[in-house]
Amino acid sequence: MRKIFLNLILCLLSFPVVAQYKYGLTPVTLAAYREDVKQNPLKELVDLERFIPGVKMDIRYATTNNFTGERIYTLAKAYARRPVAVALKKAQEEFRDHGYGIKIFDAYRPYAATVKFYEVYPDSTFVASPWRGSRHNRGCAIDMTLVNLATGEELKMPTGYDAFVREAYPSHPVADPEVRRNRALLIQVMEKHGFRVNASEWWHFDFRGYSAYEILDIPFEKLDEP
Ligand SMILES: [Zn+2]
Repeated sequence: MRKIFLNLILCLLSFPVVAQYKYGLTPVTLAAYREDVKQNPLKELVDLERFIPGVKMDIRYATTNNFTGERIYTLAKAYARRPVAVALKKAQEEFRDHGYGIKIFDAYRPYAATVKFYEVYPDSTFVASPWRGSRHNRGCAIDMTLVNLATGEELKMPTGYDAFVREAYPSHPVADPEVRRNRALLIQVMEKHGFRVNASEWWHFDFRGYSAYEILDIPFEKLDEP
C-alpha cells in the first residue's frame, strides 16, 4: 500500500515533465546538448547580442507584448547555433551598407514554449505544431525586422510581428512602394546568406541547414551556466 502511495506521489511529481512531451517528441535536454557540443562545436547556441555588433533586440516573449499575453521567457535573450549566428552576422554587415540593422524578436526557442504557443493558438499555419516542433527549437530560425541606423526606428513592413493574417505572407501584394522595397530587401539579403523566409510570416527566417540540428528544450538560464 505504502509503495503504491509513493508511486502515486512520484507520478504526480513527474507529471509536468511528461505533459510537455505528450506530442511524441523527446527533445534534447542540457546534459546531452553539452555532450553534443563537445563532439561538434557547430552545435553551440551562441548569444547573438554578444556575437553580432550593434544588433537590436526586442524579445517579445520575455514581455507580455506577444500573442499569448504572457511572459513566456524569464530572460530577454536570443541564441542560435554557431553557423546560423555567423550567417546572421554577415547579413547584419550587408544591411549596414544600406544604413539598416537587424532587430531580433525571437531566435532559439525552448520546445516547452512551442507546446505552450500551440495550446494557446492551435493553428499550425502560424504556430508550429508540437508534433513536429519548430525550427526555432533547433536554434535555426530567426524572427526579425530591420531598423534605420540613423533614427533607430523600425522600417515600415506589411504587418506587425506575429500578425496572424494573410497580409503577413511574403507573397501577399503590397501597395505601398516603400513597404514593398523594405520587405524585398529583408528577404533578398537573408536568402543570400543562407536563410529562407517562411511562407506565411515575412519576419521568420529558417536557416537552410536546420535538419542537422536537433530539437532542444533547454531554458535560457541553463545556457548561461558554466
Ligand atoms: Zn518564427
